[in-house]
Amino acid sequence: MAQYVLNKFKKTLPVIVGMAMDSNTEESFFDSLRKFATDLIKNNISDTSVKNAKLVLEMLEHEAKYIPELSRGDKIYIETFSMLWNFLRGDPKQGTTPDLFEDLFQILCRMTGVKKDGTYTEYKFVKHMKRWPTGLEKEIREKRAVRKDFIIGLLIKKIEKRSLSQASRYQFEQGMDHEQKKRQVNEWWNDFRFHLAMAIKTPAELNLFMEESLSTKTMKMLGRARNKRIPFFITPYYISLLNTEPNGFDDQAIRSYVLYTESLVDTYGNIKAWEREDLVVPGEPNAAGWLLPDGHNIHRRYPEVAIMIPDTRGRSCGGLCASCQRMYDFQSERLNFDLDALKPQESWEKKLSKLMDYFESDSQIRDILITGGDALMSRNRVLDKILDAVLKMAVRKKEANMLKAEGQKYYEIQRVRLGSRLLAYLPMRIDNELIDILKRFKEKGLKAGIRQFVIQTHFQSPLEITVEARKCIEAIVSAGWTISNQLVFTAAASRRGHTAKLRQALNSLGVVTYYTFTVKGFEENMEMFAPNSRSMQEQFEEKSFGKMNEAQQKELNKIFRHGTDLAASLNRFMKTNSLPFVPTDRNVLNLPAIGKSMTFQMVGISKEGKRILRFDHDHTREHSPIIGKLGKVYIIENRSVNSYLKEVESMGERKEDYSSIWDYTSGDTEQVFPLFNYPKPGFTPTKEITNYKETD
Ligand code: SF4
Repeated sequence: MAQYVLNKFKKTLPVIVGMAMDSNTEESFFDSLRKFATDLIKNNISDTSVKNAKLVLEMLEHEAKYIPELSRGDKIYIETFSMLWNFLRGDPKQGTTPDLFEDLFQILCRMTGVKKDGTYTEYKFVKHMKRWPTGLEKEIREKRAVRKDFIIGLLIKKIEKRSLSQASRYQFEQGMDHEQKKRQVNEWWNDFRFHLAMAIKTPAELNLFMEESLSTKTMKMLGRARNKRIPFFITPYYISLLNTEPNGFDDQAIRSYVLYTESLVDTYGNIKAWEREDLVVPGEPNAAGWLLPDGHNIHRRYPEVAIMIPDTRGRSCGGLCASCQRMYDFQSERLNFDLDALKPQESWEKKLSKLMDYFESDSQIRDILITGGDALMSRNRVLDKILDAVLKMAVRKKEANMLKAEGQKYYEIQRVRLGSRLLAYLPMRIDNELIDILKRFKEKGLKAGIRQFVIQTHFQSPLEITVEARKCIEAIVSAGWTISNQLVFTAAASRRGHTAKLRQALNSLGVVTYYTFTVKGFEENMEMFAPNSRSMQEQFEEKSFGKMNEAQQKELNKIFRHGTDLAASLNRFMKTNSLPFVPTDRNVLNLPAIGKSMTFQMVGISKEGKRILRFDHDHTREHSPIIGKLGKVYIIENRSVNSYLKEVESMGERKEDYSSIWDYTSGDTEQVFPLFNYPKPGFTPTKEITNYKETD
């Protein structure tokens, strides 16, 4: 493979190879390369050539320097072109890989103008998007109906076995025949509690529900996962969405959420916290400078928003996503699936009141995101109490402001969000009682000055949009709450057109998209990782087909402000403006300590071919004052671009369809879509920042 790349260099880039051969030292090679790139900028043969020449100069600036890598906290020595010089002279440095040289080959080809990327045409875009069916399509529904029947058969056996040994509300009455049992289970299927009670918790059971379709290799790996105490928790509903036929529909995007990867299993037990601000020492500010109440209930990065994780069943989820961004918390068992033990203790109410004091006494917070785990895993009664506490706190905050002068007032609560993936994992959870709670909260919340009521959900694939999911989305929308979606841009979800199709399918139901997150984490997520270059490619190619002008953005805002008949209005809007979807989401990476950003510049490549990126924070939003001290930060990606391409190729993709990926070597964070701006407070708020302490 290395020889293959060397031959490509010799054939296509003889001038670069000649430079290396003529340079007796690596420094003289750097000088020649610098001069060559500078001349190319002057000659300006094309935008791509100039861009890549500038990139080479930037990388040369970082050559032979140590940089502090933020996610691991290591110092990394950058020697990209030194490794290239040795390689081209036939004496590669130990440990260097073909992936490194492939990336350099692609960059240098674009710099010299020998390679040009074609345009990503609308024809290709439509073709790519069409490949991904939603769960609403007839063929998928029919296949899943068969799966459901099979699963119901297994559930009958499971209940029969359990009835003998365990007390459960899901038991068959004496004398029921098979048909009656089937009818009964079909009825229970609509009750979310049934799915939680019947969740799959072992690899053997998982294989059984997958019709024994898992390979020996997969089963061995899942066995190792179990030994390492990685939880298994898959509801019968969710497992019914997977395909078990060898030539059935492509379910990789959801399958890879259920079946763990080798890298996760290897790393579990030693997973490190990616977000440093999640490591909290009582009484000390977190990495973003915020002082937080004891007990790991509040996470905070920004001035205006804090995340609240209640001590309730909300510390669990409707399933464990293999790429979970909170896997560190599952490892430490702060999040878990022990639903009985997670019932709120008596002390919770006192704690809740203390947490509300925190929000009330904070000068900047105007947005609470109640999440977990999963906010909607909490029982209705428990959730109602939490929302009631939020409401009372919002009223108190508002009343306290009446006694404060202009310029001294604290921000009031403007936005309340509930973070939940249950719309995808277990849509039956959105029952009438919950809808009533949401409606009531909105009615009262509006009087308390709250303006935005949001269910922040996580659909990962159009395949998760089922008849059941559609029903629950309609119910939430009819309660006057906005649903915004954030997805994790895993390798499977990053395939051409997949995210675009998800945007389209969600929009057609009145759901807006909010974030497209690069997979974060370390080795545990290696196989899941899609490089930031692919995210940028998606943003500039697929997503750009939904680009809106200012007038269209205003009109869209109006539709959401109005809030009635949302799905129909949104569909009309897209049709009238010939838009495939409304691209309201931002492609970002959640960085340790400095928050979400996609403002980066590539500065080097590691010997494994992983790109080294220098990130700056997102300049389009407010930050903790500490941001000024942090400056720019360096991150090394989880895998090389080449290994990512091999991964998607193994899923049936054509490498050629991704060929422009190499050219995405920098990024700028997109503007927050106006729809997600906070309303004006209606007074002059204080500049004082409470609950904050500068660290040295
Ligand atoms: S629902 Fe969210 S918190 Fe729960 S496992 Fe999935 S990604 Fe993690």
